[in-house]
Amino acid sequence: MNLKKYLEAGKIGKEAREYGKELIKEGVSYYEVAEKVEKYIRDAGAEPAFPVNLSPNNFAAHYSPIKGDGMYFKRGDVVKLDLGAHIDGYISDTAVTVEVGTNKWESLINASAEALNNAIKTIRPGIMVSEIGRVVEETLNFYGYNPIKNLTGHGLDVYDLHSGLVIPNFDDGSPERLIPGMAFAIEPFATNGKGYVHEGKGGNIYIFRKTSDLKGVYAAMFEKFRTLPFAARWCTAFENYESVLKKGTWLGILYHFPVLHERKKFMVAQTEHTMVFTEDSVIVTTR
Ligand code: MN
Ligand code: MN
Repeated sequence: MNLKKYLEAGKIGKEAREYGKELIKEGVSYYEVAEKVEKYIRDAGAEPAFPVNLSPNNFAAHYSPIKGDGMYFKRGDVVKLDLGAHIDGYISDTAVTVEVGTNKWESLINASAEALNNAIKTIRPGIMVSEIGRVVEETLNFYGYNPIKNLTGHGLDVYDLHSGLVIPNFDDGSPERLIPGMAFAIEPFATNGKGYVHEGKGGNIYIFRKTSDLKGVYAAMFEKFRTLPFAARWCTAFENYESVLKKGTWLGILYHFPVLHERKKFMVAQTEHTMVFTEDSVIVTTR
Protein backbone atom coordinates (compact mmCIF):
# COMPACT_ATOMS: atom_id res chain seq x y z
CA MET A 1 0.00 0.00 0.00
CA ASN A 2 1.26 3.47 -0.84
CA LEU A 3 0.26 5.25 2.35
CA LYS A 4 1.79 8.55 1.30
CA LYS A 5 -0.39 8.79 -1.83
CA TYR A 6 -3.53 7.76 0.10
CA LEU A 7 -2.83 10.46 2.70
CA GLU A 8 -2.21 13.14 0.09
CA ALA A 9 -5.37 12.21 -1.83
CA GLY A 10 -7.26 12.27 1.47
CA LYS A 11 -5.99 15.70 2.43
CA ILE A 12 -6.96 17.17 -0.94
CA GLY A 13 -10.37 15.47 -0.78
CA LYS A 14 -11.00 16.92 2.67
CA GLU A 15 -9.98 20.42 1.61
CA ALA A 16 -12.08 20.24 -1.55
CA ARG A 17 -15.08 19.11 0.51
CA GLU A 18 -14.69 22.00 2.95
CA TYR A 19 -14.29 24.42 0.03
CA GLY A 20 -17.30 23.01 -1.83
CA LYS A 21 -19.49 23.10 1.25
CA GLU A 22 -19.10 26.89 1.43
CA LEU A 23 -20.02 27.33 -2.24
CA ILE A 24 -23.47 25.73 -1.89
CA LYS A 25 -25.78 28.73 -1.47
CA GLU A 26 -29.27 29.66 -2.60
CA GLY A 27 -29.27 30.73 -6.26
CA VAL A 28 -25.86 29.24 -7.15
CA SER A 29 -25.82 26.68 -9.97
CA TYR A 30 -24.84 23.05 -9.47
CA TYR A 31 -22.61 23.40 -12.52
CA GLU A 32 -20.59 26.21 -10.97
CA VAL A 33 -19.99 24.29 -7.73
CA ALA A 34 -18.98 21.06 -9.47
CA GLU A 35 -16.60 22.83 -11.85
CA LYS A 36 -15.00 24.90 -9.08
CA VAL A 37 -14.51 21.91 -6.78
CA GLU A 38 -12.97 19.82 -9.55
CA LYS A 39 -10.65 22.71 -10.44
CA TYR A 40 -9.67 22.94 -6.78
CA ILE A 41 -8.69 19.25 -6.78
CA ARG A 42 -6.63 19.65 -9.97
CA ASP A 43 -4.93 22.84 -8.76
CA ALA A 44 -3.95 21.02 -5.56
CA GLY A 45 -2.04 18.43 -7.60
CA ALA A 46 -4.55 15.58 -7.76
CA GLU A 47 -7.25 14.50 -10.22
CA PRO A 48 -10.94 14.05 -9.39
CA ALA A 49 -11.44 10.33 -8.66
CA PHE A 50 -14.98 10.73 -10.03
CA PRO A 51 -17.25 13.64 -11.00
CA VAL A 52 -18.48 15.83 -8.15
CA ASN A 53 -21.90 14.48 -7.18
CA LEU A 54 -24.54 16.99 -6.04
CA SER A 55 -27.69 15.14 -5.10
CA PRO A 56 -30.60 17.09 -3.57
CA ASN A 57 -33.34 16.04 -1.13
CA ASN A 58 -34.74 12.57 -1.90
CA PHE A 59 -31.89 12.02 -4.38
CA ALA A 60 -29.19 10.02 -2.59
CA ALA A 61 -26.42 9.89 -5.18
CA HIS A 62 -25.11 10.01 -8.73
CA TYR A 63 -26.27 13.35 -10.07
CA SER A 64 -23.49 15.41 -11.61
CA PRO A 65 -24.47 18.65 -13.32
CA ILE A 66 -24.17 19.40 -16.99
CA LYS A 67 -24.10 22.86 -18.58
CA GLY A 68 -27.58 24.23 -19.11
CA ASP A 69 -29.35 21.72 -16.84
CA GLY A 70 -31.14 24.58 -15.06
CA MET A 71 -30.18 23.23 -11.64
CA TYR A 72 -29.78 25.91 -8.95
CA PHE A 73 -29.67 25.46 -5.18
CA LYS A 74 -32.94 26.47 -3.54
CA ARG A 75 -33.59 27.46 0.05
CA GLY A 76 -34.39 24.35 2.09
CA ASP A 77 -32.57 21.92 -0.22
CA VAL A 78 -30.66 19.11 1.49
CA VAL A 79 -27.63 18.60 -0.76
CA LYS A 80 -25.23 15.66 -0.66
CA LEU A 81 -21.81 16.85 -1.87
CA ASP A 82 -19.79 13.74 -2.67
CA LEU A 83 -16.34 14.01 -4.19
CA GLY A 84 -13.02 12.27 -4.50
CA ALA A 85 -9.40 12.93 -5.41
CA HIS A 86 -6.77 10.53 -6.63
CA ILE A 87 -3.02 10.56 -6.93
CA ASP A 88 -1.78 7.99 -9.44
CA GLY A 89 -4.94 5.97 -8.77
CA TYR A 90 -4.80 6.17 -4.95
CA ILE A 91 -8.27 7.41 -4.09
CA SER A 92 -10.07 9.43 -1.45
CA ASP A 93 -13.88 9.44 -1.38
CA THR A 94 -15.73 11.78 0.99
CA ALA A 95 -19.15 13.36 1.38
CA VAL A 96 -21.03 15.88 3.47
CA THR A 97 -24.64 17.05 3.53
CA VAL A 98 -25.48 20.75 3.35
CA GLU A 99 -28.91 22.25 4.05
CA VAL A 100 -29.38 25.46 2.08
CA GLY A 101 -30.46 28.38 4.30
CA THR A 102 -32.64 26.39 6.76
CA ASN A 103 -32.05 23.82 9.51
CA LYS A 104 -35.15 21.70 9.35
CA TRP A 105 -33.14 18.54 8.64
CA GLU A 106 -30.31 19.14 11.08
CA SER A 107 -31.05 16.00 13.10
CA LEU A 108 -31.13 13.81 9.97
CA ILE A 109 -27.77 15.24 8.85
CA ASN A 110 -26.29 14.85 12.35
CA ALA A 111 -27.55 11.27 12.58
CA SER A 112 -25.64 10.30 9.46
CA ALA A 113 -22.46 12.05 10.72
CA GLU A 114 -22.82 10.39 14.14
CA ALA A 115 -23.35 6.96 12.55
CA LEU A 116 -20.08 7.43 10.66
CA ASN A 117 -18.26 8.52 13.85
CA ASN A 118 -19.52 5.51 15.75
CA ALA A 119 -18.59 3.17 12.90
CA ILE A 120 -15.05 4.57 12.83
CA LYS A 121 -14.71 4.18 16.61
CA THR A 122 -15.75 0.54 16.33
CA ILE A 123 -13.08 -0.46 13.80
CA ARG A 124 -10.39 -2.86 14.98
CA PRO A 125 -8.34 -5.45 13.10
CA GLY A 126 -10.53 -8.33 12.02
CA ILE A 127 -13.87 -6.62 12.70
CA MET A 128 -16.71 -8.02 10.62
CA VAL A 129 -18.25 -5.53 8.21
CA SER A 130 -21.68 -6.62 9.44
CA GLU A 131 -20.77 -5.22 12.87
CA ILE A 132 -20.00 -1.85 11.28
CA GLY A 133 -23.39 -2.09 9.62
CA ARG A 134 -25.08 -2.86 12.93
CA VAL A 135 -23.47 0.20 14.57
CA VAL A 136 -24.60 2.41 11.66
CA GLU A 137 -28.18 1.15 11.78
CA GLU A 138 -28.46 1.30 15.57
CA THR A 139 -27.15 4.89 15.60
CA LEU A 140 -29.61 5.98 12.90
CA ASN A 141 -32.51 4.19 14.60
CA PHE A 142 -31.60 5.90 17.88
CA TYR A 143 -32.19 9.26 16.17
CA GLY A 144 -35.44 7.98 14.65
CA TYR A 145 -34.16 7.32 11.11
CA ASN A 146 -33.37 4.40 8.83
CA PRO A 147 -30.25 3.55 6.88
CA ILE A 148 -30.56 3.15 3.13
CA LYS A 149 -29.92 -0.57 2.88
CA ASN A 150 -29.15 -0.79 -0.81
CA LEU A 151 -26.33 1.79 -0.63
CA THR A 152 -23.09 0.74 1.01
CA GLY A 153 -19.54 1.65 1.88
CA HIS A 154 -16.87 -0.10 -0.15
CA GLY A 155 -13.28 -1.14 -0.51
CA LEU A 156 -10.90 1.02 -2.57
CA ASP A 157 -8.12 -0.17 -4.77
CA VAL A 158 -5.72 1.53 -7.16
CA TYR A 159 -7.81 3.05 -9.98
CA ASP A 160 -10.77 1.14 -8.54
CA LEU A 161 -13.44 3.12 -6.70
CA HIS A 162 -15.48 0.06 -5.74
CA SER A 163 -13.33 -2.99 -5.10
CA GLY A 164 -15.20 -6.16 -4.17
CA LEU A 165 -15.49 -5.32 -0.46
CA VAL A 166 -18.93 -4.11 0.68
CA ILE A 167 -19.45 -2.29 3.99
CA PRO A 168 -23.18 -2.37 4.69
CA ASN A 169 -25.26 0.23 6.49
CA PHE A 170 -27.05 -2.50 8.49
CA ASP A 171 -26.17 -5.95 9.82
CA ASP A 172 -26.38 -7.95 6.63
CA GLY A 173 -24.76 -11.05 8.14
CA SER A 174 -21.69 -10.77 5.90
CA PRO A 175 -18.68 -12.73 7.22
CA GLU A 176 -16.25 -10.31 5.53
CA ARG A 177 -13.65 -8.75 7.84
CA LEU A 178 -11.56 -5.54 7.80
CA ILE A 179 -7.86 -6.26 8.03
CA PRO A 180 -4.61 -4.25 7.87
CA GLY A 181 -3.61 -3.36 4.33
CA MET A 182 -7.15 -2.45 3.24
CA ALA A 183 -8.39 0.96 2.10
CA PHE A 184 -12.12 1.62 2.26
CA ALA A 185 -14.89 4.19 2.54
CA ILE A 186 -17.77 4.12 5.01
CA GLU A 187 -20.86 6.14 4.08
CA PRO A 188 -24.01 6.00 6.18
CA PHE A 189 -27.08 7.25 4.32
CA ALA A 190 -29.84 8.34 6.71
CA THR A 191 -33.47 8.73 5.68
CA ASN A 192 -36.90 9.28 7.15
CA GLY A 193 -38.13 6.97 4.40
CA LYS A 194 -38.20 3.22 4.02
CA GLY A 195 -34.47 2.86 3.37
CA TYR A 196 -34.36 1.79 -0.25
CA VAL A 197 -33.32 3.82 -3.26
CA HIS A 198 -34.60 3.35 -6.79
CA GLU A 199 -32.88 4.00 -10.09
CA GLY A 200 -33.93 7.10 -11.99
CA LYS A 201 -32.69 8.83 -15.14
CA GLY A 202 -29.03 9.01 -16.10
CA GLY A 203 -27.05 11.46 -13.96
CA ASN A 204 -24.31 12.44 -16.47
CA ILE A 205 -21.72 10.10 -14.89
CA TYR A 206 -20.18 7.28 -16.96
CA ILE A 207 -17.66 4.48 -16.53
CA PHE A 208 -16.06 2.09 -19.00
CA ARG A 209 -17.75 -1.26 -18.87
CA LYS A 210 -15.53 -2.67 -21.62
CA THR A 211 -11.82 -2.08 -20.96
CA SER A 212 -10.04 -3.94 -23.76
CA ASP A 213 -10.13 -3.99 -27.58
CA LEU A 214 -11.50 -0.45 -27.67
CA LYS A 215 -11.37 1.42 -30.94
CA GLY A 216 -11.33 5.02 -32.17
CA VAL A 217 -12.83 7.61 -29.90
CA TYR A 218 -13.52 5.03 -27.16
CA ALA A 219 -9.83 4.04 -27.04
CA ALA A 220 -8.91 7.74 -26.75
CA MET A 221 -11.49 8.27 -23.99
CA PHE A 222 -10.31 5.20 -22.11
CA GLU A 223 -6.75 6.50 -22.31
CA LYS A 224 -7.96 9.56 -20.43
CA PHE A 225 -10.44 8.15 -17.91
CA ARG A 226 -9.25 4.57 -17.45
CA THR A 227 -11.33 2.57 -14.96
CA LEU A 228 -12.67 5.54 -12.98
CA PRO A 229 -16.07 7.23 -13.38
CA PHE A 230 -16.11 10.40 -15.50
CA ALA A 231 -18.51 13.22 -16.30
CA ALA A 232 -20.13 14.09 -19.59
CA ARG A 233 -18.74 17.58 -18.82
CA TRP A 234 -15.20 16.20 -19.11
CA CYS A 235 -15.71 14.96 -22.66
CA THR A 236 -16.15 18.24 -24.54
CA ALA A 237 -12.75 17.82 -26.27
CA PHE A 238 -14.08 14.76 -28.10
CA GLU A 239 -16.03 15.50 -31.25
CA ASN A 240 -19.79 14.88 -30.97
CA TYR A 241 -19.23 13.68 -27.42
CA GLU A 242 -22.91 13.61 -26.59
CA SER A 243 -23.67 11.05 -29.27
CA VAL A 244 -20.44 9.17 -28.51
CA LEU A 245 -21.59 8.78 -24.89
CA LYS A 246 -25.10 7.83 -25.94
CA LYS A 247 -23.93 5.29 -28.46
CA GLY A 248 -21.25 3.90 -26.11
CA THR A 249 -23.93 3.29 -23.49
CA TRP A 250 -26.23 1.65 -25.99
CA LEU A 251 -23.39 -0.56 -27.29
CA GLY A 252 -22.50 -1.65 -23.74
CA ILE A 253 -19.04 -0.07 -23.89
CA LEU A 254 -20.05 2.47 -21.25
CA TYR A 255 -22.28 2.40 -18.21
CA HIS A 256 -24.35 5.53 -17.58
CA PHE A 257 -25.02 5.73 -13.83
CA PRO A 258 -28.67 6.32 -13.04
CA VAL A 259 -29.50 8.74 -10.23
CA LEU A 260 -30.54 6.92 -7.07
CA HIS A 261 -33.51 8.28 -5.19
CA GLU A 262 -35.85 7.59 -2.30
CA ARG A 263 -39.56 8.04 -2.87
CA LYS A 264 -40.39 11.69 -3.45
CA LYS A 265 -41.62 12.76 -0.01
CA PHE A 266 -38.61 11.34 1.86
CA MET A 267 -35.29 13.01 2.65
CA VAL A 268 -31.76 11.62 2.52
CA ALA A 269 -28.51 12.71 4.24
CA GLN A 270 -25.06 11.19 3.76
CA THR A 271 -21.64 11.50 5.40
CA GLU A 272 -18.54 9.69 4.14
CA HIS A 273 -14.89 9.27 4.98
CA THR A 274 -12.05 7.22 3.50
CA MET A 275 -9.84 5.12 5.75
CA VAL A 276 -6.67 3.11 5.40
CA PHE A 277 -5.90 0.23 7.68
CA THR A 278 -2.15 0.19 8.44
CA GLU A 279 -0.39 -2.51 10.46
CA ASP A 280 -1.38 -0.99 13.78
CA SER A 281 -4.06 1.63 13.26
CA VAL A 282 -6.86 3.00 11.16
CA ILE A 283 -6.16 6.36 9.60
CA VAL A 284 -9.09 8.45 8.40
CA THR A 285 -7.55 10.18 5.39
CA THR A 286 -10.37 12.68 4.77
CA ARG A 287 -10.90 14.02 8.32
MN1 MN B 1 -18.59 9.06 -2.21
MN1 MN C 1 -18.13 5.97 -1.66
